[in-house]
Amino acid sequence: MSIDLRDSALQASCPTVMVPRFGTFQPLQEPGHRFLSAADGLWIEAYRPWVYIRQPLALQKTVAMPYGRVTREIDLSFGKIPRGLFDEFAVLAREHLPNECAACIVWSEHNGFELRPLGSIKALHGFVKYERPIVADGEHLIIDLHSHGLYPAFFSGRDDRDDRGEVKITGVLGNLDQETYSLEVRLCVQGLFITLPAG
Ligand SMILES: [Zn+2]
Repeated sequence: MSIDLRDSALQASCPTVMVPRFGTFQPLQEPGHRFLSAADGLWIEAYRPWVYIRQPLALQKTVAMPYGRVTREIDLSFGKIPRGLFDEFAVLAREHLPNECAACIVWSEHNGFELRPLGSIKALHGFVKYERPIVADGEHLIIDLHSHGLYPAFFSGRDDRDDRGEVKITGVLGNLDQETYSLEVRLCVQGLFITLPAG
């Protein structure tokens, strides 16, 4: 029976790899993501020039799987996100009160981080759509930031839907009318969300 061409395309771009039990595991080195069948279940692995991620998706001990083990990894090539970037965005977000606003943080190996405000297509209380930023060669759009205006920082169901299907960091700032704003930061891996320490 021949394989459907659509399936071969999907499986080639996003395979499931069996982690070797005796040999050496070769981490993903090309931008993309794939799944790993390991001794303890199913993992996701993703690579971008700025991050390497390996995290469990579904762990199990019931059935012995004849594969090797892998460890949890989140390896950001720039180390930590400078807290000053969030403060810089807070200044912009306060100018927009009581409306929301958004920005992105671009990172390049040579020039480091840069905050870029995003133009809004529609800015209403609780609903904003933003223009997608254009990045140059060698630049990576790594963080999406948005504000919740007067409301606390948290990731809404709408944020979850917006952040699915991408590998990026998202941050939300809230309570911007107060002296100390609230902040939540997470790493998004194709719909898996991992809370990151803020600064
Ligand atoms: Zn939000």
